[in-house]
Amino acid sequence: MQERLEWKDPYMKDFEAEITSVGNGFVTLSRSAFYPGGGGQPCDTGWISCGEREYEVTGVEKSDGDFRHMLKAAEGLAAGDRVKGRIDWERRYAHMKYHTAIHVLDGVVELRHGGKATGNQIYADRSRVDFDMPELNKEMAEKLIYEAQEVIDAGHAVAAKVLSKEEALSIPNLSRTENGKELMRSMETFRVIDIEGFDIQLDGGTHVMNTREVGRMELLKFDNRGSHNKRITFILR
Ligand SMILES: [Zn+2]
Repeated sequence: MQERLEWKDPYMKDFEAEITSVGNGFVTLSRSAFYPGGGGQPCDTGWISCGEREYEVTGVEKSDGDFRHMLKAAEGLAAGDRVKGRIDWERRYAHMKYHTAIHVLDGVVELRHGGKATGNQIYADRSRVDFDMPELNKEMAEKLIYEAQEVIDAGHAVAAKVLSKEEALSIPNLSRTENGKELMRSMETFRVIDIEGFDIQLDGGTHVMNTREVGRMELLKFDNRGSHNKRITFILR
């Protein structure tokens, strides 16, 4: 099973590893800092190199507990080779900022306004969050972003923690989606993202260390997608 270096240190850009298997257009590694994707955050891209040769990693795919680092070409690589990995940091750091921003916005909506986030998608240049919140309109979306900005500017520390089942189940609404709640019943350890003094959520993604790193949030688009479903798309500057 691959060691998850991005969970130990989300700021890790380079790492060394051993190839554990080579497949058709992919390799698996003993350890990796490439985020495999999940929770609305896309997988990382980047490069691995073996000696002088460099291979582009176009993405990561999860298969039967393996993390397949997809390569444009895998020729010349063999199990047991020592390689260096380097993630596309600009892209990943953007994902981290957007991911933390989404948690802040979710927290504002759920803790203060009684709305409910139903899904999200992160990109390197924007993100969208869907809410079940009948009263949400464009004016209110602007207000929610204003409130989220106040939380961001307050400089809350952000930390990933692993909780026991007992600790996790004692926190109300640790997971807010029905899928997440169902999943929690079968899990033994719980990785959470704690925006200290603000909100804590079950999460497998990578986040910045302090909300101040997020920058400035701006509403890009508000979509009314039905009587309950509203979509906020925002950008960071
Ligand atoms: Zn998340």
